[in-house]
Amino acid sequence: MKKEIIAAVVLAGGSGTRLGTSCKKQYVSLNGKPMIYYALKAFQESSVDRMILVSNEPEYCRTEIIDKYRFHKTTDIVPGGAERYDSVYAGLLAAKGCEYVLVHDGARPLVSAETIEASIEAVRRHPACVTGVPAKDTIKIVGEENFAESTPDRTKLWQIQTPQAFSYPLLMKAYHTVLNEQPKGITDDAMIIEYGRYAKIKIIPGSYKNIKITTPEDLIIAEAFLREAGRK
Ligand code: C5P
Repeated sequence: MKKEIIAAVVLAGGSGTRLGTSCKKQYVSLNGKPMIYYALKAFQESSVDRMILVSNEPEYCRTEIIDKYRFHKTTDIVPGGAERYDSVYAGLLAAKGCEYVLVHDGARPLVSAETIEASIEAVRRHPACVTGVPAKDTIKIVGEENFAESTPDRTKLWQIQTPQAFSYPLLMKAYHTVLNEQPKGITDDAMIIEYGRYAKIKIIPGSYKNIKITTPEDLIIAEAFLREAGRK
């Protein structure tokens, strides 16, 4: 029987301006290693077959991360685009031929082996699966001049994370619709599927530790979690 190929697209194509560091966020040092090292290590050690890194600094990534730490599952480094979804699409083109694809933000260095393997298990049953955690805070929809407009029922709110796992042909079909129609406000790949109503999105439990590093305090939290996990 032909082995199914599972690819991971790891995103490091953003500018990360909200972090306020001189170095781009995905290469900022966390416990002595560039942030993107941790996500690549997690996927390298997983049952994923190949990794595609989306980065606009291919030489640096090749010599200082991929070769140095022997992340040999990395088959391609492709340049990112203006929007997150442009970067994902560039990665997807390089992932051609796989059955399933996991898309992961390189700015989430705390992704665990358990979450990756759970995503792979889930996508074999559901063609679009994303990780997430129930919202702990009350969330409000805020309108003009910061006046609250409404408060959604918190018991139904989940914060969505990555990895997000998909049937590769399905995600490509959904991407082609979005790239043709260019809707505004797409912030994750589940929204690409939702836009064309290609499948129902299955949410599987992620982890409160799998934070996306966005603002300076996130660096302190991530370093503490990494120390605790002994993942240096
Ligand atoms: O900006 P945000 O924090 O939502 O980015 C999430 C991930 O997407 C990051 O890992 C970032 O490097 C990546 N990204 C990208 N190309 C863009 C924008 C974001 O690869 N144009």
